[in-house]
Amino acid sequence: MVSLRKFPRITIDLEKCTVPFLCKKCIQICPTAVFSVRSIKEERLKEADPRVDGTYVLSVQRRDKCTVCNRCLEVCPVAALKIEVA
Ligand code: SF4
Ligand code: SF4
Repeated sequence: MVSLRKFPRITIDLEKCTVPFLCKKCIQICPTAVFSVRSIKEERLKEADPRVDGTYVLSVQRRDKCTVCNRCLEVCPVAALKIEVA
């Protein structure tokens, strides 16, 4: 049977969430592992510095897993997340 449930829309304000690798609060609190963080400025043989703004970026990997528990919204120190249910 095909599910007709629409997945929530999750948006990340990257102007506010600038050092996600250092923060990781939403990643740690999310019970269904919706978010992931990755380096976007990786240089060969050099580790990216997580303290530098924009070195790492947070993204939504599993929007379909979000249960809209809103825990990530509660822990985010800079109110960078928005979740809308269609
Ligand atoms: S609302 Fe809950 S399930 Fe959805 S991304 Fe946030 S913490 Fe994860
Ligand atoms: S809790 Fe907020 S600031 Fe921290 S990584 Fe998540 S979205 Fe970014």
